[in-house]
Amino acid sequence: MTPVDTPTENRAAVRTLGNFIAGEWRESTGRRVPDLNPADVTEVLADAPASTAAEAASACDAAAAAFEGWRATPAPKRGQILYAAQRRMEERRRELAEILTREEGKTIAESLGEIQRATNVIEFFAGEARRLTGETIPSELPHNFCYTVKQPAGPVAVITPWNFPVAIPVWKIAPALVSGDTVVFKPASLTPLTAAVIVEIFQEAGVPPGVLNLVHGSGRDVGDTVVRHPAIKAVSFTGSNDVGIGLYGAAAARGIKCQCEMGGKNPIVILGDADLDLAVESAVQGAFGSTGQRCTATSRAVVVDRVADEFVERLDARASKLVVGNGLDAATHVGPSVDEKQMQTVLDYVDVGRREGARLVRGGDRLTANGLDRGYFVAPAVFDRVDANMRIAQEEIFGPVLSVIRVADDRTALTVANDTRFGLSASVYTSDVAAMFRFVDRLDAGIVHVNSPTVGGEAHIPFGGMKATGVGLREMGRVAIDFYTELKVVYVDYTGSARQGNLY
Ligand code: NAP
Repeated sequence: MTPVDTPTENRAAVRTLGNFIAGEWRESTGRRVPDLNPADVTEVLADAPASTAAEAASACDAAAAAFEGWRATPAPKRGQILYAAQRRMEERRRELAEILTREEGKTIAESLGEIQRATNVIEFFAGEARRLTGETIPSELPHNFCYTVKQPAGPVAVITPWNFPVAIPVWKIAPALVSGDTVVFKPASLTPLTAAVIVEIFQEAGVPPGVLNLVHGSGRDVGDTVVRHPAIKAVSFTGSNDVGIGLYGAAAARGIKCQCEMGGKNPIVILGDADLDLAVESAVQGAFGSTGQRCTATSRAVVVDRVADEFVERLDARASKLVVGNGLDAATHVGPSVDEKQMQTVLDYVDVGRREGARLVRGGDRLTANGLDRGYFVAPAVFDRVDANMRIAQEEIFGPVLSVIRVADDRTALTVANDTRFGLSASVYTSDVAAMFRFVDRLDAGIVHVNSPTVGGEAHIPFGGMKATGVGLREMGRVAIDFYTELKVVYVDYTGSARQGNLY
């Protein structure tokens, strides 16, 4: 039995997806787009609409109409609905994990992990409902009382990528809902079925009509309409730099809030005294987990010369054990690229690396034996002797490709680690406490790990990048609420007399 045969036997019926607007599932008049399994493109999971701009606008209108009622709903009541969504996601966890693996390609263990993270996020923000506090601030005037309150920002747009199609929408939708915002959700075109199930979960939890709306369709038609719609007061985007910066400009032109979390080129720095077993394991997890299709994926290993030969040798041996295949097969470590275009991008970068003069230690070919030709599989690739200026060391590949960059010493390691336009995540491997703090201090990354992989994040801990990776406030953690609310300052004068002086 080939790795792809088992799932093929268990195929579900093709689902016809609609948009969820004003509390009802509506058919779209747009053309239908087949939703394919990247591990086996003969499997069609669903057929999703390329919705029209008018349909996107009606979702924004529905979010606007529902806003007054939702903002007036006491925050702890909103939190109760989120707790119900948490329970519902737990109940539907297995079903959702299989859909996620079939639709995006990641392994079933990775899907279950992503759903666990999403469930944790909902739980965390449900709890925040009872902590949407402001502060009291002593006035410089006698008999004056000053305080702040957090009010909902308004209807918000949530625009998400395909690589974490459960966790990322949830870490935007949950804080928005708890803050009292209504939402128009535009998921990635490649993962419409996962998006539909997430919305069903919130619907089943009791989110009122119009509070959460879903519109499938292209970024150009649906995404752009939503960002420019007058009802939308804030945009939360995760995706590529090209799209994010364009969208940031459109939001800025309207004078509305926008947060964009974008690409990464994350380094793992391995100093001379590093525990190499630990470093190799983390490099493999970080580079090849989720098929390298993670914004936090490790794409550069910056290794000091003293341990570089040994690191590369052990890395090669460890990578040789990775099983590539259909994510539904429990033996699989690395699933497919999400679609043909993404696979071709990875293969093209492998070519670029070769032509630039890096040494391909292993992998980098398309895999087609044993039925893998029905999907988009690439053997995990390791390049050695990569120069820090090469394109494979500078550009986001978003696939299972790791570049080893050898450096003379710690100082050069830091310079090289910081030498990209991105700044999402970085790891340093050392047992020297002073060196560790020097790196923690000076690495240009929104998230720094010490002796742990570049990937991962917890529901209650802020997440996001600096430099070209991120603009706007961080996501997750309590700070996420700041994006979805407006801070109002209140002055109450109880002197009963007109103010004397101090009128600035
Ligand atoms: P993408 O092509 O930028 O798409 C992201 C979302 O934006 C999709 O829903 C897309 O719709 C939509 N979109 C496209 N053009 C638009 C437009 N003109 N106006 C409004 N929306 C538009 O990114 P992707 O390929 O899905 O995701 C991969 C990228 O996401 C990588 O660069 C990765 O690093 C980044 N990412 C970053 C983080 C982070 O937290 N920093 C996390 C995960 C992923 P369509 O699907 O219809 O094109």
